[in-house]
Formats: sequence, C-alpha cells, structure tokens
Amino acid sequence: MPEERTSLGTVYDLRGKRVWVAGHGGIVGSALVRRLKHEKCTILTITRQEVDLTRQDQVEAWMRETAPDAVFLSAAKVGGIFANESYPADFIYDNLLIEANVIRTAFEVGVEKLLFLGSSCIYPKLATQPIVEEELLSGPLEPTNQWYSIAKIAGIKLCQAYRSQHDCDFISAMPTNIYGPGDNYDLNSGHVVPSLLQKAHNAKMSSAASLEIWGTGSPMREFMHVDDCADALVFLMKHYSDKGHINVGSGKDIRIDDLALLIMKIVGFQGELVRDTAKPDGMARKLMSSDRLAALGWRAGIELEAGLRQVYAERFGNENPRERKALRLD
Ligand code: GDP
Repeated sequence: MPEERTSLGTVYDLRGKRVWVAGHGGIVGSALVRRLKHEKCTILTITRQEVDLTRQDQVEAWMRETAPDAVFLSAAKVGGIFANESYPADFIYDNLLIEANVIRTAFEVGVEKLLFLGSSCIYPKLATQPIVEEELLSGPLEPTNQWYSIAKIAGIKLCQAYRSQHDCDFISAMPTNIYGPGDNYDLNSGHVVPSLLQKAHNAKMSSAASLEIWGTGSPMREFMHVDDCADALVFLMKHYSDKGHINVGSGKDIRIDDLALLIMKIVGFQGELVRDTAKPDGMARKLMSSDRLAALGWRAGIELEAGLRQVYAERFGNENPRERKALRLD
C-alpha cells in the first residue's frame, strides 16, 4: 500500500452518528455546529464549566458517558500575536493537555473518527511559500507563537502515533487565519481582523483622525471565513483518512496595511492609517498551499471583501436595508 493514499472512496458517513464538537463555544466550533445541522447526525456539546478539557478525569467521564462516534477537536487556547507573547505557559500547557486528554480518551472509548484542528502557525518561520504540508519541522519556528505551535505539532503527532500504533482513524487539519461570527473582539487578545474591525468602527464613531495598526503593515496573511472552514472540515471528516495533516486555506493572502485599508472602506472610516512599529510583525508571510485539499475536491467560496462586509454588518449593524438584503441578514 502506498504511504500517502488519498481516500475519497472511503467516505465516513455522518448520518446517524453521535458527533462531539469539542470547543463548540469558539469561532470554529460554533461554525461546525451550524454546518453539522445539515448532516442528520446527533451533535454533542459540553460547556467548559461542566467539563474542563485540561482535566483527564473529567474528559474520560464525559466521553465514556456520551460515547461519541466522531469528534471534531476544535477546543484550544487561542489568541492573537500579543496574547501569545504574554501568556506562553498557558498557550503551551492548556493546548497540550486538551489534545492529549481528548485524543487518548478517543482511542480508549473507541471513537471511529477524530479530526484534530491545528493552525498555519505550525510551519517554520522561513518556510517556502505557499507552504506545503511537507514543510512541517523543516526549520525553526516564529518565536512569537512558538508555544502554541509546539503544542499543535504535538497534536498532529499524537494523531499519527495512535493511527500507527492502534489503527485509529484520527486526522489533522490546519486552517489558515479564520474570521467570522463568534470572533474575539478584545483588542489585546484578538486576531487582526476583529481587532481592525473594532478599531475602525470606534474611529468612525468617535470621528477620530486616524486608525493605528500594529507593526509595519508589511506582513502578509491569508484569511478564510469560518463558514468556509467548517464546510472544509466536515468535508475532510467524510472524505479524508490519512496520516498526513492537511492545509485548509483560501489560497490568497493580503498585506496587513491593505487589509486595514479594505476594512476602513467597508466600515466607512476615512481617516489616516498609522503604524505602531513598536508592536511585533510576527511572521512575514504564511500563505499555505491548499492544493492537497483542492485535489480532494474542495475549494473556498467566500471572497474576503464579501466575508468582511457580512461580518461587519452582523456585528456592528447595518442600517442600509438594500445591503442587508444582499447580505441575507434578515
Ligand atoms: P498572527 O497571524 O499569529 O501574527 O496573529 P494576528 O492576527 O494577531 O496578527 C497578524 C498581523 O497583523 C501581525 O503582523 C500583527 O502585527 C498585525 N496587526 C496589525 N494591527 C493589529 C491589531 O490591531 N491586532 C492584531 N492582533 N494584529 C495586528
């Protein structure tokens, strides 16, 4: 049997299955729940207050009691560049424990299929762009998010180890930078899209003269609407069964200052763009190659500008009835 076999033929049928979305309160988890409602499966969720996923005993009790057939492991401690730099211990410790507990227990209780979610942060700082899956562990990591990436790399390896030793059908997907409903709009801990939407909105409301972005504005980032991401993840759950992790991206990236200008246009803020170069840039570029996903038959469908317009209107309201109708907000 070849090492890397594509497995479009081996469809995992979600109909009638009990599917646990671990992390259903987060941006990706909540989008997965919305998407799975079209799949005729039973969706299982549990709040953080009821089950702390960093506690092995609680994870075991919950999984033994509910016996899920399939698991989307979208629970994680996540945050933007500033949060990663400020709380390195939390980012590495919480993520290692969550994935170790859930993956190990999934094996023990006989979960048929598990999809582990990582991120494009797993790749080396100087990875060749667009980044193909084989770039993993080919060089040193970007220091600002190394804690998170090391934990996510360990998650991929856990899935591979359980596949190799116990024949578990555990797969890993690496989404690019996600934005959409349920995002974190806190200016200190959030990622760039919600932060800039919030900042531009505040600037417009207060008739400010300028909007400040962090860093030089020259880094490039790839963005994907979370509904596209959730659709890709369900597709992979059904159609992919290999040890190699797989990138989930839109295939297009944009400079951060161009993103800021686009957001200013969408929000309707006409002030000046200023740069706080005391803040870090992070990776210069991290565009992933999504060729492997495309070869399986899935492509992103939501363009960045349309997606941002929709998110802005949903979050901050949109008075224009014609635009609301076009965005299907009513
Ligand atoms: P990253 O992709 O892990 O670096 O995470 P972020 O989404 O936090 O940041 C992406 C890029 O946007 C980095 O180069 C940041 O310096 C830049 N950036 C510019 N303005 C902001 C802002 O207001 N908030 C955040 N989080 N990033 C910003």
